[in-house]
Amino acid sequence: MKFPSIWHPKISQLWVGRSQGLIVRQKLAGPPDPNSLQFRLTVGIAAVSAVGLGSLSLYTSMKMHQQLIYTHKQNIQYVADRFPRDVETYSQQLPLEIGLQHAIDESNTKNLFLWVKTADGNILTKSTILAVDRQEYTALISIDNQQMAPRVNAINDKYMAICSGTLVVQGRKLGHLYVAQDITSDRLRLNSMVGSLLIATILAIALITVAIALYVRRALEPVRQISQHAGAISAADLGKARVQLDCAPSEVRELARTLDIMLYRLSESWEQQRQFVSNVSHELRTPLTIVAGYVQSTLRRGANLTEPQREALATAAGEADRTIQLLQDLLELARADSGHIHFQLEVVMLNDLLSEVVGMARQYSNRQIILSADKGSHEVVADCNRLKQVLLNLIDNAVKYSDPDKPVTVKLDRQGSQVSIAVCDTGCGIPLPDQTRIFERFYRVDETRARATGGTGLGLSIVKTLVEGMGGRVTVLSKLDKGSTFTVWLPAQSAP
Ligand code: ADP
Repeated sequence: MKFPSIWHPKISQLWVGRSQGLIVRQKLAGPPDPNSLQFRLTVGIAAVSAVGLGSLSLYTSMKMHQQLIYTHKQNIQYVADRFPRDVETYSQQLPLEIGLQHAIDESNTKNLFLWVKTADGNILTKSTILAVDRQEYTALISIDNQQMAPRVNAINDKYMAICSGTLVVQGRKLGHLYVAQDITSDRLRLNSMVGSLLIATILAIALITVAIALYVRRALEPVRQISQHAGAISAADLGKARVQLDCAPSEVRELARTLDIMLYRLSESWEQQRQFVSNVSHELRTPLTIVAGYVQSTLRRGANLTEPQREALATAAGEADRTIQLLQDLLELARADSGHIHFQLEVVMLNDLLSEVVGMARQYSNRQIILSADKGSHEVVADCNRLKQVLLNLIDNAVKYSDPDKPVTVKLDRQGSQVSIAVCDTGCGIPLPDQTRIFERFYRVDETRARATGGTGLGLSIVKTLVEGMGGRVTVLSKLDKGSTFTVWLPAQSAP
């Protein structure tokens, strides 16, 4: 038999999601998720800020370099360019060698050191006032003759700006002119300023990244709230569910409004489906009960029926009974979903109730059912009939899914403030992955086995709904081929 197509698996999942307490929660702690919007926005904005700040620092460093170093280079280049003209001017009145020395002395300012080398590497003339110490002097004059654009050389622990070129006066090649300037103090100042700038930039980037991370996290808080609200909504409270946000940006408020409208529509359609299931179950149950009654009475009275006719009628009666049970279960669940299930809560003495239930089950199943209870009397607040229905359902399953010669045990016990009623069998057991799903509607572990036992797949859903409706819970412990134990936990009425 096919179940009604209106029972959409997603709707059923939604219901189960709530019933199993599966509420979506945003991870607040732990490592950041690289796929999250928060992570991507933070990294993106931080990267842009880093590039911006880095470029600014680079530009500032270049400017400082220009201010402190480049001017020195320009200065020595200027001295080197002007030098031949000065020599020419002096040598018009004086011998060339003396004019040369005059020109050097004239150009010699603080920190500036000039010298001229002949083609074979001998010093022709040099500044008389030494702007450098002996060691640097030796290192400087040992530089080979070559054409050199202004550049900074590290000599010992000093920084020297140096340039050189061929010295030609009045068309005569006199040798090689060198101009050097000690720029150590400016170079050290530049190094320290660039170092400070680098540290300040790194600190600023780190601070900006933290600030951005906090800001993005705060900005995305409404989205997280929507996600939490949506995760906590179940089919049961679809109608009342509203996504409420405090101080959210208008785009997110718009999204929440749209979600509210969607929830409203969903609740309407869910309500219609529930109503439809309830109506269909109700409308079909009565005629089907009549049909089943006729078939059974025909079977009872039909002495002249042939064997194949008897078999066909017996099958029809069995299927009709199963369908009536299914409709009954569906009606029950539809009532529970719409909150129309009422519990007549009263103080129930479990010892008496269990004796009654076990007695009924023994008669009905013709199986060995052992009742094991400690000496104390256990009272709970529950609906007596509903609790009987729950226990009969669990015992029925234990009987169905275990060998006929194996006993079923019902144990009554107390653990702290809870009273437990365990229904244990030594049957086929339930595989671990199925244990979390057997309370879902229409979920069956093994379709062929369930078919043979005639179940509807709704029994445990009803058990769970009823037990939770009475303020309790139901758990399962099972091992494949060893057996299962279903335990109903209810709050005890009196202190232990
Ligand atoms: P059904 O009407 O099919 O028994 P239930 O909701 O009562 O539906 O149970 C759901 C499924 O859980 C069953 O189909 C069966 O596979 C499994 N199940 C329930 N009780 C037991 C048990 N005592 N031992 C093994 N399997 C069980």
